[in-house]
Amino acid sequence: MIEIRYTIKLLSPLRIGTGIGKAAYLDNTIVRDNFGQPIIPGSSLKGKVRATATRLAEPLGFRVHSQSEKPNGCLSDGMTICDICRIFGAAQVPGNLYFENAVVSADIQKVIFQLDRERRDHQLTPRAALSFGQNIRTNVAIDRRTHTSLADHLFSTESVGSPVIFNGSIRSEKSMPVSLRDAALLVSALQFIDHLGGGRGRGLGRCEIRVDDLLMDGASKLDQLAVLLESGEVK
Ligand SMILES: [Zn+2]
Repeated sequence: MIEIRYTIKLLSPLRIGTGIGKAAYLDNTIVRDNFGQPIIPGSSLKGKVRATATRLAEPLGFRVHSQSEKPNGCLSDGMTICDICRIFGAAQVPGNLYFENAVVSADIQKVIFQLDRERRDHQLTPRAALSFGQNIRTNVAIDRRTHTSLADHLFSTESVGSPVIFNGSIRSEKSMPVSLRDAALLVSALQFIDHLGGGRGRGLGRCEIRVDDLLMDGASKLDQLAVLLESGEVK
């Protein structure tokens, strides 16, 4: 069983929208947990890590199926499974990995809870969690064909302001072994990611991801991983 713990530092506002509006003034809200704090959904990160790992896989000596020959993934034609589908899952095989939601770092959470506790003590509605890091942008919808603004088409979207730090982890299921070599691919992919969410063209979602620890059966393997990556032995 492996666990990769990571830190995501936002370098510009992050937009991972729910696609759902709120009241009348927000057309697209960001994803939040039950306490109202912004999160980075594990599913979003998984998609990004998989896409990045797919690009890195071949140079690192992992087998990847051809996306054009097998658009539905491995096993769609009864062939052997490639490394990417083995690690991340394919249509007929469950993935080996569980990506938890990344949450606002514990230090920031403590401050937010403290601020909301003080507001409650003063009989005020707690709102620090909801307003923390919140950016709301109102845009004019542009007609893509004529490049002119559409009359009466204002829309507002919400994003998480920077700098905010998130923490999260990726774990493998107990029954499915993930090797140190597989972990090296995942760690390389994480470190390679430089943006998340939407609006990349507008400079949104720039980030840095740092891997804080790699645990295999509870023991830290960060040193061994560094040796493996430096030696080029991932191949
Ligand atoms: Zn595959």
